[in-house]
Amino acid sequence: TPDQRWEMRTGETGDGARIVHLVDRSGNYAAEKMRVDFVANASHELRTPLASILGFLETLNEEAGEDPALRARFLKVMFDEAQRMQRLVEDLISLSRIEAEKYRLPGERLDFGELLEDVAAEIAAARGPRAGEVGITIDPALPAIVGDEAQLSQLLHNLIGNAMKYGRPGTPVTVTLGLNRSGLLQLAVTDEGEGIAPQHIPRLTERFYRVDAGRSRSVGGTGLGLAIVKHIVERHRGRLDIASKVGVGTTVTVAIPPADALAGAAVIKG
Ligand code: ADP
Repeated sequence: TPDQRWEMRTGETGDGARIVHLVDRSGNYAAEKMRVDFVANASHELRTPLASILGFLETLNEEAGEDPALRARFLKVMFDEAQRMQRLVEDLISLSRIEAEKYRLPGERLDFGELLEDVAAEIAAARGPRAGEVGITIDPALPAIVGDEAQLSQLLHNLIGNAMKYGRPGTPVTVTLGLNRSGLLQLAVTDEGEGIAPQHIPRLTERFYRVDAGRSRSVGGTGLGLAIVKHIVERHRGRLDIASKVGVGTTVTVAIPPADALAGAAVIKG
């Protein structure tokens, strides 16, 4: 049935992509927007670092190649740009893999708490000197879930990574895992960063949507992290929630049903 409250509009995002979105009567974004030219965006994201690498290669081939200091500087830039392309390609591959498996419930029984401990240890080992503490609290008596271990590990890396990237330097990140009132396993990742203005929140899981593209690039973002998280959550029949206060910080919550709650659902081993 047609819902009179929504209106469909086409528009442009900050990076020039065309989108179609649903708006409510007061003009607020009412539902997630559909990006109609994902390929154009992805190509654009790759073209920028590639053009930069080619430009530097050309310069190195000419007189700048003779100057050792200049050479070292250019090589460093090229290396960074190539790494950026690699992150992008890896995220694009992840996204298309996860999307392809959308309707297949993951078949592995696993302990989400244990997985969180492993990821926390990996993050602690890789943490830079300016990063604040990552405090983890895990309820010891959690039921098992059915999940895809690699995907859930990626979800944890993306969410804790964002909290560290967008948190103020030196401030802590808090991660808790417990059961919520509905009996779902609830993960909450909280940072003390600059927060996100409310009008951006419904759009954060769109591919390539960023509040501040320059900031995202400078911290190594691809603009795909939360789109990947959203797809992983959906595949696990979960819920994703983002709550934020400008100037205070952000809490991202993921709720996943325990294995027993999915007993009735068809589990296709994958
Ligand atoms: P990116 O690779 O740019 O970090 P994401 O999809 O992970 O992409 O996030 C999209 C955007 O959402 C980011 O560019 C950033 O503007 C915003 N964002 C995500 N997490 C946070 C956070 N914890 N605090 C503030 N802003 C955030």
